[in-house]
Amino acid sequence: MTRMANTLDRQEVEVLAIGAGPANLALGVALEELAPDIARETVIVEQHDTVVWQRGLLLPWSQSQVSFLKDLVTLRNPQSKFSFVNFLHATNRLDDFINLGSFTPYRMEISDYLSWVARNLSDVQIQSGRKCIGIEPGYGSDGEVSEWVVRLSDGGEIACRNLIFGGGRDPHIPSEFARLPRERLIHSTEFSSRIIGLDRAAEHRIVVLGGAQSAAEMLWASHQEFPNAQCTMVMRSIGLNCYENSKFTNQLFFPSFVDEFHAALPEARDQLLREMHRTNYSGLNPALLDVLYRQMYLDKLTGADRLKMITMSEIADARMSDGEVVLTLLDRKNGGSEELRCDMVLLGTGFNREMPKAVRDLAASVSVDEVSVSRSYRMNLPPSVRAGCYLQGVNEATHGIADSLLSLLAVRSEEIVRDLLAHQPSHQLVATVPVPS
Ligand SMILES: Cc1cc2nc3c(=O)[nH]c(=O)nc-3n(C[C@H](O)[C@H](O)[C@H](O)COP(=O)(O)OP(=O)(O)OC[C@H]3O[C@@H](n4cnc5c(N)ncnc54)[C@H](O)[C@@H]3O)c2cc1C
Repeated sequence: MTRMANTLDRQEVEVLAIGAGPANLALGVALEELAPDIARETVIVEQHDTVVWQRGLLLPWSQSQVSFLKDLVTLRNPQSKFSFVNFLHATNRLDDFINLGSFTPYRMEISDYLSWVARNLSDVQIQSGRKCIGIEPGYGSDGEVSEWVVRLSDGGEIACRNLIFGGGRDPHIPSEFARLPRERLIHSTEFSSRIIGLDRAAEHRIVVLGGAQSAAEMLWASHQEFPNAQCTMVMRSIGLNCYENSKFTNQLFFPSFVDEFHAALPEARDQLLREMHRTNYSGLNPALLDVLYRQMYLDKLTGADRLKMITMSEIADARMSDGEVVLTLLDRKNGGSEELRCDMVLLGTGFNREMPKAVRDLAASVSVDEVSVSRSYRMNLPPSVRAGCYLQGVNEATHGIADSLLSLLAVRSEEIVRDLLAHQPSHQLVATVPVPS
């Protein structure tokens, strides 16, 4: 079970990882397998009481978009006890999973796997229910930054010589929605927890903004959950599309491609990110696309008319009037505008591209304006900062489109562990993968 923190006022550790998402859990596994001495001095803090994957949109029917073999460990160490296959074996579901004949587990199942990994870490300590609310540099007697002091929501603090940020990216909430009251606006990261508060039988008018997977999942879930609701999707694009899934471009998600991307010219990186956009951001899983189209077809057939899509439109303004949300839609086809009245807006608008605020604040605290990391994910900091800081999942611009995905985690964890060790010659890497000759 995930350990709850004792009431620790102040603790000192070698490594403090923020967030018990897949990135830091993969790192925890890599530390236990490759650098057990450091693992014993590592703490992961998680703001929630439980380890759950993408809890905001953990719908029972949603599936992962990557193979189960891209779990937290297999690409690095296929013999690890922390593999997804061993999780299935340990929980008596290996037969069922094999019989399903799928490479892409339900997201719920991946979430259970993560929570199982968290429970089974033996050296790395997970402290749940502790949110990081501030990070400050700690100065040694020589005036250099020798540690980071992390303040936690329960009043405690942890000082660490190395910080690993794995808190995910900040949700993108377009500025047009700034005037709407919070109860009328739900970002996809909060969908599951907040949508259950709505009256199931009411005739809600729900507008979903966005044309990618998260928006489509919220649209379908709302349509199913609220039988009397009118659900309208508003998107900039010409219509919903499948995500791009060519086996050729999929090769660019291999961990081995990170070197090539990292070394590429700036214009080549731009091209790669531009051309790969639809592999990850603006497309839908084909099964969901089909389900939505069939539902619209059925709606027309029966006259139910509960599902509507407005394409090539963007929202120019959002305000309240007479207890209703009034959206001003700009029609990209003819330049005209019209009003759309509704009760709730669901934002499938993704995540901010810039570094998370917590990371920008940390950089500013040591007078760094532009955040960047080395190939090994270590933040580039002035020589007077001895304390290390590693960033996971927020380096798409320099490490490629797979940076925020599961695909890289197993191998990236080892890269970070090796870099940690390189900065601490007193600790040695433990080789754990005996290969039969
Ligand atoms: C709906 C959805 C579906 C996805 N599906 C896939 C998929 O199928 N395949 C794939 O490869 N990728 C998918 N992704 C991409 C996703 O980013 C990665 O799979 C993965 O979750 C990234 O892991 P992470 O650990 O970097 O971040 P996250 O998973 O976001 O985890 C961050 C963790 O940090 C915690 N945290 C945040 N701030 C703090 C704080 N201040 N203090 C303490 N704890 C904090 C959070 O509670 C969370 O547990 C999906 C993303 C979304 C939103």
